[in-house]
Amino acid sequence: MGIVLFTITSAMTSTLSVPNPGIQDTHRCQLSPLAVPERLLLGPGPSNADATVVAAMNRQPIGHLDPAYLTLMDEVQELLRYAWQTDNAMTYPVPGTGSAAMEATLANGIEPGDVVLVGVNGYFGHRLVDMARRYGAEVRTITQAWGQPFSLQELEKALDQHRPNLLALVHAETSTGVRQPLEGVGDLCHQRDCLLLVDTVTSLGGMPIFLDAWQVDLAYSCSQKGLSCPPGVSPFTMSSRAVAKLEQRQTPVANWYLDATLLRKYWGSERVYHHTAPINLTYALREALRLLAEEGLDARWQRHQQTAEKLWAGLEAMGLSCHVAQEFRLPTLTTVRVPDGVEAKAVAQQLLLEHNIEIGGGLGDLAGQVWRIGLMGANSYPEKVDTLLQALKQVLVP
Ligand SMILES: *Cc1c(COP(=O)(O)O)cnc(C)c1O
Repeated sequence: MGIVLFTITSAMTSTLSVPNPGIQDTHRCQLSPLAVPERLLLGPGPSNADATVVAAMNRQPIGHLDPAYLTLMDEVQELLRYAWQTDNAMTYPVPGTGSAAMEATLANGIEPGDVVLVGVNGYFGHRLVDMARRYGAEVRTITQAWGQPFSLQELEKALDQHRPNLLALVHAETSTGVRQPLEGVGDLCHQRDCLLLVDTVTSLGGMPIFLDAWQVDLAYSCSQKGLSCPPGVSPFTMSSRAVAKLEQRQTPVANWYLDATLLRKYWGSERVYHHTAPINLTYALREALRLLAEEGLDARWQRHQQTAEKLWAGLEAMGLSCHVAQEFRLPTLTTVRVPDGVEAKAVAQQLLLEHNIEIGGGLGDLAGQVWRIGLMGANSYPEKVDTLLQALKQVLVP
């Protein structure tokens, strides 16, 4: 593998005055500089980053209280509000991937003993259940088949039955490819004094989202899917309703790192140090959001829809079928049924190693049954669909 181990050199004399038990060089390997293969990432994420996003990230870091950085923070917040269509003051990225932002919404939105109702119709619903329990919630679930959304009537019935303090739904279930319609859900929640939490990890930047019009109280996303930015910072937002609940807590937020009562002092006007911001990832996110704003939400959503429709038509022409009814299909992620007799994993492996294209396999209930094809952000273009379909044809019909 080109790894050269150094031998221990006893001849070196040290001028350090601290006691030195002798450096072991066992793990010291001499490597050539990093080389990364070029892949087309058409799986459930990460997606490829735009070249200008990578360039933005590769600048020198500056201090997290530098006036230039504080300006950049304000810009990121404004751009996130645009991307989500919200006026929420508390809108900022948290360090970590989408799961960290998921954790931030639950940690800040839940007090021990709260009843939390989670819509589980895929893998990420289960993750919400697991996390909410860890924050002391009394979790109830409403379930649907993997590949089906919840109807407004089902949600209303469950809200009446469980009387939760918080309802959590996944807008774009990346494990199934299903879009959860959200029109009217916020109304149902607020009539019952319940907050609405929504996972927008695979929808932000790729399909219509109107957080304020839908009266969503807590939402999170990630950087590496629809925004085409490397993973590591993740959008988080709270409505004034959710902030009011936060301010009335009887117990401190059980996660110090993601505590919005502390973080708001850094992201708000006080600028109080909390943790060192992931400076370079914030550069990258700013550029990714700038590109989104330059394109405009409407154009971007149209592009994603049209590119997905081209994929669906191409798959159908090859005799393949999609797992989800067209009405509820995500433009960002398509689940494709694996034909009988075909080894799903082997196909994905061959696409990666022979064609440099990554696609995803099925998760949970859909393991082995579907492939997951993502067309997100910088990859949502007709040329990428052509590249994938050509490669898929070669692999399936050699
Ligand atoms: C990817 C994803 C997550 C988790 O995000 P990470 O960035 O992998 O931590 C959560 N929810 C949904 C719907 C996702 O697709």
